[in-house]
Amino acid sequence: MALTEFAIIDRFFREQGARRDDVVAGVGDDCALLSVPAGAELAVTVDTLVGGRHFPEQTEPEAVGHKSLAVSLSDLAAVGADPAWATLALSLPEPDEQWLAGFAAGLGALARAHGVALVGGDTVRGPRVITLQLHGLLPAGQALRRQGARPGDRIYVTGTLGDAGAGLAVVEGRLTGDTADCEWLRERLDRPQPRVATGRALRGLASAAIDISDGLLADLGHLLAAAGCGAELRAAGVPLSEPLRRCAGEREALRLALTAGDDYELCFTVPPERQAALERRCATLPGGCRLVGRITAETGVRMVAVDGTVPRPEGGWDHFAGGD
Ligand code: ADP
Ligand code: MG
Repeated sequence: MALTEFAIIDRFFREQGARRDDVVAGVGDDCALLSVPAGAELAVTVDTLVGGRHFPEQTEPEAVGHKSLAVSLSDLAAVGADPAWATLALSLPEPDEQWLAGFAAGLGALARAHGVALVGGDTVRGPRVITLQLHGLLPAGQALRRQGARPGDRIYVTGTLGDAGAGLAVVEGRLTGDTADCEWLRERLDRPQPRVATGRALRGLASAAIDISDGLLADLGHLLAAAGCGAELRAAGVPLSEPLRRCAGEREALRLALTAGDDYELCFTVPPERQAALERRCATLPGGCRLVGRITAETGVRMVAVDGTVPRPEGGWDHFAGGD
């Protein structure tokens, strides 16, 4: 039984996510009408997931729904915004009820957990492509930015890194191990937990922030480029999960943590005098925070090995140091 476009919208996307008083008009009108509080700044981000490219085609629809919102929530977390409203442009090869029900359930659960209302979108037939735009609110002038790090600032990350990259290797049969470990790594790939509470807690404390979607080295690199600085990273400080260590081994785990994508953790910098306050605030938040290094005036990234030595860049790590 083929669903019409209007039946799809009605069954799966009307009144999806949180109920919010600031939604004047949502799904069903020509435009969503949203009430922005006086003194607030609007944070806007959009991400597109293409089936077979950004997620394996066999991914559970519920996980695809979760992830399509999670990646944008991670962007809002990076600027410290409070999530508010989402719009969803959905292109699907055929109106598969079971897929739609799973997708909407995954998206809806994460949206409710973060107070996000789905207020509009577009539904078309085509290749499986999901575009979600997310809007968040901030007190004006308080957004965290990529720029702003200064030499001497400490560098922190949330959660553990490299798990999603290992999860993808598990899905693609490139990595094996204990069943429970493999399942946990796949969960980290399929259901990232965006660090929204941490982002909010960093307002007024962090000098710069970015979310880690392309690997710590690449994303820290963006933060350093924006600041015109470099960094010293301590390999021993990079947080690695036990399942990742067990499945991949110490060396490969570190490589994944530095270079693999899809973690959706945060990387941020804090001046030394605010370190104690920062660590107190993060202590009770999901994912916590971990000191991984410091900002240097000298550009490029110097990696201090686990044994305290500074190895020369090698193999795929040749973007460690600038001009070397
Ligand atoms: P229009 O022709 O004005 O673009 P549509 O027929 O495309 O309107 O959509 C009808 C209503 O349903 C609009 O309010 C639109 O925002 C909403 N909508 C369409 N697709 C989705 C979707 N995938 N998720 C949420 N809302 C949607
Ligand atoms: Mg339309």
